[in-house]
Amino acid sequence: MSDVSAFIGVGRMGGPMARNLARNANALGRRVRVFDKSNAAIAACQDAGADAAKSLEEAVGGADVIFSMVPAGPDVRSLYMDKGGIFEIAPKGALLVDCSTIDVATAQEVAKEARERGFRMLDAPVSGGVAGAEAATITFMVGGEASDLAEVRPQLEKMGAKVVHCGPSGMGEAAKICNNMITGISAVAVAESYAIGQRLGLDPKILYDVVSTSSGQTNIGTRNPPVAGIVDTASANRNFEPGFTIALMLKDLRLSQAAAKQVDQASPVGAAAAEIFALAAGAGLANLDTAGIYKLIAGKTLTD
Ligand code: NAD
Repeated sequence: MSDVSAFIGVGRMGGPMARNLARNANALGRRVRVFDKSNAAIAACQDAGADAAKSLEEAVGGADVIFSMVPAGPDVRSLYMDKGGIFEIAPKGALLVDCSTIDVATAQEVAKEARERGFRMLDAPVSGGVAGAEAATITFMVGGEASDLAEVRPQLEKMGAKVVHCGPSGMGEAAKICNNMITGISAVAVAESYAIGQRLGLDPKILYDVVSTSSGQTNIGTRNPPVAGIVDTASANRNFEPGFTIALMLKDLRLSQAAAKQVDQASPVGAAAAEIFALAAGAGLANLDTAGIYKLIAGKTLTD
């Protein structure tokens, strides 16, 4: 059995995750090899002790565990299933751990093909954002066989603070997008509340004081209220510098709508939230933090 972990896709999230894994490589008794389409992203992992691979083939050659963290479903499909992709070039029997946030149907389809081609596969999307990836405090939501999770758990625990087995293939993605749908809907609800309150003449600090200890309390409203000068953790203090962007939230809301369609489940509030985030992205707010949805709701421009 080899002791090499390959990490493919070391961007904003995968980069800090791979660095935390590499920093703990000795303790785990492993080597960590990274590959990305971007040379700069690869170079940023070398100081943490990761080996730089010049190609996907070099990265996965001899690896018994392969992590991936790429943007979306089509990227995952292409990375694993294309000619010259992981299914063709990785050692048979390797444990494949895709941490990307993608649609449930694609995660299940790729995992099924992995099994048919002699691999084992987990979907293991994360929550906690870039800061959480850097601090190794992210949560992994894992779909797949419990025995495969047990094998890779020590490595996940070096990259995150919590690992939850959510069920068979696809259930990690299901948990992730169901969770993020609640956050997206909450962000809109919180923004609307502050906009109404302010127009009524209610001091936002008083609204915060009440809501953060009342039935309207939400994680985003307490940690990240949309008005500056209330709590230090609010992105509003820094003109909604992200954090988790409106573009990423729109992506996740679209994924939850695709999942709702897949199982014929009505999701009218999630659908409305997705449309509101699409309007915000169209209005030039895509790179603001999720709480910046307040700008659209309150009728403010990017520079207001
Ligand atoms: P990113 O664009 O910063 O990083 C993706 C990296 O993958 C890039 O460096 C890109 O070059 C690389 N890549 C893509 N295809 C590749 C291939 N075939 N071979 C090698 N490298 C390849 O994106 P990110 O913000 O790190 O997001 C990655 C995933 O994590 C997404 O699914 C996103 O939804 C999810 N996520 C992001 C956050 C966040 O706050 N950024 C939080 C939780 C989850």
